[in-house]
Amino acid sequence: LEPAYSFMIRTRTPGGVVTPAQWLKLDAIATTYAERGLRITTRQAFQFHGVIKTELKATMQAINAALIDTLAACGDVNRNVAVAANPQQSQAHATVYAQAAALSEHLLPNTRAYYEIWLDEERVAGSGSEDEPIYGATYLPRKFKIGFAIPPYNDVDVFAQDLGYIAILDEDGGIAGYNVSIGGGMGATHGDPDTYPRLGDVIGFVTPDQVIAVGEAVVTAQRDHGNRAVRKRARLKYTIDDHGLDWFKAEVERRAGFSLLPARPFDFVHNGDRFGWVHGDDRGGGDGRAHLTLRIPAGRIWDKTEANGNGVAHLSGLRAIARLLADADDGDAGAHFRMTPNQNLVIAGVPADLRDAIDALVTQYDLDGYRSASALQRNALACVALPTCGLAMAEAERYLPALVGKIETLLAAHGIADAPIHLRISGCPNGCSRPYLGEIALVGKAPGRYNLMLGADHRGQRLNTLYRENIAEPEILAALDPLLARYAHERGTDEGFGDFLVRSAVVVPPRHIPLALHT
Ligand code: SF4
Repeated sequence: LEPAYSFMIRTRTPGGVVTPAQWLKLDAIATTYAERGLRITTRQAFQFHGVIKTELKATMQAINAALIDTLAACGDVNRNVAVAANPQQSQAHATVYAQAAALSEHLLPNTRAYYEIWLDEERVAGSGSEDEPIYGATYLPRKFKIGFAIPPYNDVDVFAQDLGYIAILDEDGGIAGYNVSIGGGMGATHGDPDTYPRLGDVIGFVTPDQVIAVGEAVVTAQRDHGNRAVRKRARLKYTIDDHGLDWFKAEVERRAGFSLLPARPFDFVHNGDRFGWVHGDDRGGGDGRAHLTLRIPAGRIWDKTEANGNGVAHLSGLRAIARLLADADDGDAGAHFRMTPNQNLVIAGVPADLRDAIDALVTQYDLDGYRSASALQRNALACVALPTCGLAMAEAERYLPALVGKIETLLAAHGIADAPIHLRISGCPNGCSRPYLGEIALVGKAPGRYNLMLGADHRGQRLNTLYRENIAEPEILAALDPLLARYAHERGTDEGFGDFLVRSAVVVPPRHIPLALHT
């Protein structure tokens, strides 16, 4: 006999894209093997929680049978590549997504251990030899994260990525190339000033055919020069700060075999999601396809039954929508699901004749919460934290609804219930919900106690600052109340809460602003 161990399994789904047929298989896996349904992560992956040890192999094999894998979804390798969900620029999204998926494949480890352990060497999708030209014998010093953004939206929080690609569109909406950002990262350790969140620096521009070469150059430079002695200092951001940005850029150019061109202008307006139906800009010349973004609180998709019978049936509802789309089966360019980096879900590429049926299912299964959600709810993010994450120091996902309600009460009292403030909660300073980019953020310190961080912008271009340390809910609300009162009376036109706090010198932003954003 042994304890009833249970595990979390995370998929590798670049850009968070899955077909309706894959959705149905993932739903079946969640229903058969996991607890609390499917969970969308802030890196556009699915997590299955509570998979018991004796069913791990069957679960992994079922995932592989859906032509999805979990390879490199964890560990000291390149993780799931994030891509702007961006339903409005659908042609650009298709191109950028394909480029990101190719980079994800290129940076996969070659080891066959995954197939030997989980799949009995019966390869269904993807494989390789034991030779590791990118990772070598010791892999990377630490995890590595890549994201692709498509301005003017920064839903992927590109400056929070170790390596970011910012798409630059040409006049026809095609991809001229990418600005490259390096050195972003959210993680920190409480009480250790040698660790800190950092935003990436834009080091130049590459053409689409240079994306993989520059990516491999950044990854291998980090492999060879990252700190392997002090694990807390092993992320790329510290390598850059230790060696200098100019030195690291030169090292990347030497490895890539070309010089980066000067960075091109870009402008981000927002790092949240846009909910409801939108039409793409083209998808093959105005074929009438549309995209519906649904709000999924904390990314949790499940059928939850409450004692009063007023539960939600979101898993069932999305199963019905997936069946509808799978039955319509209009080929590779057809409808698909796209997880967003803000833990929401886009039903993308929907032909005109299916819209009414999808709307009916969205209403029937109470998936239309985006219509009535407050501005605060629409822009709130929480990591999973307790009870699932072993690193959690405090609640996040389970605490989010209660906290949102209490802050909404403050906002309403000051007459600013519609203020679109970005709220983020993490159960520990690792920062999986990218809390250091929240206008208001709580970072867990102990059960019921948090660091209150304030003053990020809503474009993902300025970090927030520690405002109060290790406080509980009454103190958090007491700290926010007078600031929200001032904001209500003193804010400028369209001025965000974070921008107001900085302009009013309530908080002083951290020194680091991405290099290309200095004016
Ligand atoms: Fe990530 Fe920490 Fe939240 Fe766990 S508790 S999900 S490690 S931020």
